[in-house]
Amino acid sequence: MPAIDLQEVTKRYGAVAALDGVSLTVEAGEWLAVMGPSGSGKTTLVNLMGCLDTPTTGSVLIADVDVSSYTRGQLTRFRAEKIGFVFQQFHLIPYLTALENVLLAQHFHSLTDESEARAALARVGLAERAEHLPAQLSGGEQQRVSIARALINDPAIILADEPTGNLDEKNEEIVMELLRGAHQAGKTIVMVTHDPTIARSAGRRIELHHGRISDISIFGGGDEEQLDEILEQLWLRRENDEPAHQETLRITGPLSAMRAIETLLRRGWISRAGGRLALAGAGERRAADIIRRHRLAEVLFSDTFQLRDESELEAQACQFEHILSPEATSRICAFLQHPRQCPHGSAIPRGECCPRE
Ligand code: ADP
Ligand code: MG
Repeated sequence: MPAIDLQEVTKRYGAVAALDGVSLTVEAGEWLAVMGPSGSGKTTLVNLMGCLDTPTTGSVLIADVDVSSYTRGQLTRFRAEKIGFVFQQFHLIPYLTALENVLLAQHFHSLTDESEARAALARVGLAERAEHLPAQLSGGEQQRVSIARALINDPAIILADEPTGNLDEKNEEIVMELLRGAHQAGKTIVMVTHDPTIARSAGRRIELHHGRISDISIFGGGDEEQLDEILEQLWLRRENDEPAHQETLRITGPLSAMRAIETLLRRGWISRAGGRLALAGAGERRAADIIRRHRLAEVLFSDTFQLRDESELEAQACQFEHILSPEATSRICAFLQHPRQCPHGSAIPRGECCPRE
């Protein structure tokens, strides 16, 4: 069952078609990024998904419910149960404390529970700020309060309209990490952003132009390749008895260095002690596989294809380490009679196919 299903949705404001025949399905648990120039209809789209607005024509189904038949009261109730909102401008009530802002959202849903609201603030790192008014909080802290507010009723869907638009880089990262946590907990996220790097956290991206979807792209691959390259560097450092710190690694790709390292730490693929990074758990095996593919490709190209140009050899091996399937790797390994060293004399990690010692 899709989380959100829009069919031929149009929204007109007088002569302006803010949305012009948009059909879009968001699967449960998906993270969708919505991009496009100012005025292209992003906010209108998110407001329709959040039942803050109704379409001029077309249908909007949220969690399989056709909300167009709902009365205002039913909509308010439905929204409080199913949807959490995060806005660029935070939209906190200025004369209520952080805690009261969260309690208010809880009140609309059910009974207020102060300890639950305090726990929600603690989860976004604001246990000590519960009694502060929004004006006494930084922009990043206000946005964290609004995330606590969005999550307090455990909604299935989070709609975030430029959630990092008013934040500096550090707070942007904190907010994105909270959204990533929500996504990992199974929430469906629709996030409007101008920033292509931020959009990369999503699994899919759509672009709006003049109220129409002009482009859809699916991510995946790019981020994983970047993570693999970090694992590979950690393997090489260890082989050479060199310490590895985040600052001394070459980290390029769609994710920021900090985000890439945090992803690896969260997955348990690396560990960090005193600033030093090391391979761990499944990261260890993954790194061995990458190094193995890389070095087998080097042997293949240098011995079998007589490729002698060093930089060409390296470039080819770098490509192959990402694209060889386990089966192809085993076949190449067998074909080369399970070599133990690459052309540069470094050890090739043993594979399943390799004869036991
Ligand atoms: P975006 O979020 O991509 O900047 P919006 O969805 O806010 O775009 O707006 C899309 C278009 O609809 C714009 O031309 C905007 O002026 C118009 N629009 C949005 N909301 C209203 C409204 N309440 N009344 C009139 N026009 C509106
Ligand atoms: Mg907008």
